[in-house]
Amino acid sequence: MKRKIICFLLIFIFTLTSIGYAVNISIDGNKVGFTSQSGVPFVDSNSRTQVPLRVTMESFGATVGWNNNTRTATVEKDNIKVEVPIDQSYIIKNGQKIKNDTAATIKGGKTYLPIRVVLESLGASVGWDGTTQTVTVTKEPIEEIKIHFIDVGQADCILIELPNNEEILIDAGNKDDSYTIINYLNNLGIDHIEYFVLTHFHEDHIGSASAVLNAFYVDKIYTPQTIADTDIYENTMDAIEDENIEIIRAEGGMSIIDTVNLAFEVLGPNSIYYSEANEYSLVTKLTYGDTSFLFTGDAESVSELEMVRGNYDLDVDLLKVGHHGGETSSSQIFLNEVTPEYAIISVGAFNNYGHPHEKTLNRLNAIG
Ligand SMILES: [Zn+2]
Repeated sequence: MKRKIICFLLIFIFTLTSIGYAVNISIDGNKVGFTSQSGVPFVDSNSRTQVPLRVTMESFGATVGWNNNTRTATVEKDNIKVEVPIDQSYIIKNGQKIKNDTAATIKGGKTYLPIRVVLESLGASVGWDGTTQTVTVTKEPIEEIKIHFIDVGQADCILIELPNNEEILIDAGNKDDSYTIINYLNNLGIDHIEYFVLTHFHEDHIGSASAVLNAFYVDKIYTPQTIADTDIYENTMDAIEDENIEIIRAEGGMSIIDTVNLAFEVLGPNSIYYSEANEYSLVTKLTYGDTSFLFTGDAESVSELEMVRGNYDLDVDLLKVGHHGGETSSSQIFLNEVTPEYAIISVGAFNNYGHPHEKTLNRLNAIG
């Protein structure tokens, strides 16, 4: 009699559990099918949803493995490898330990993983729909592009965080700005810059370039096809050589990134000789979906006219105004094509150059 009661209680508890916590998993809108053979998701004592390893991770498009010696499941997708040891409150992403508030487990001979931490580590976005008791997984979350105009006073330094987690840095402020720039990037957790654009070789654009090269991994550097006879130029070139970084001498018409949704291209300069060093500035355009941005360095009216005549699509939403708002940039013929909704001027308060120039501000105000 006693035994019967215990059985009854166990069944009762089990039934309650499965009714109370029946969990669905949906990946990009498709419900994952579970059977008693594959195992069924459940909510653990830490209120985390645990899912059967193989069926869930394969539905996500990942490759799964199992190491019997270490009792560790592995899940791999797009060059990310997540190791999930059983009964341990951490996971390992590409060799790095990440703490977790629950642990993978083996139940009924099947391996279960906490879905959120594993799939977020693989770059997915994981949500919860309480009305349908569904864990909603989006493989590639829609990510924003973030553009930071770092405050370096009378100078330029622009950081672009791309949706694919790559970084573009356009210019590196004055020599005195190295602490500001390095600190700013460190605070964002950035240790790697994929594209480093040095628009031209004036001190207010490459001043802290060598410090940036020392502090971060940089993949590629883009500069105009010119040189300068200055210490800051020599120092920068030495640093590039020391770090053994590929240097690309760019010009108008070159494409740096060209994917379905994201483009980064060079629109200027379009000549090999200018009498004014500013005109050599690399002008770049970034397009993400329907939104576009133009970064003009210190390009002035000669280069601007060449871009207008060069049949580029100059119409953008945001313009980084050329040469800190100086009078000889942002010519009317150029602005007529660009018609920016937003204009950003990177300038030092009370600078000695009278930047931004009143006439430039008037032209910008008139256009938008
Ligand atoms: Zn400048």
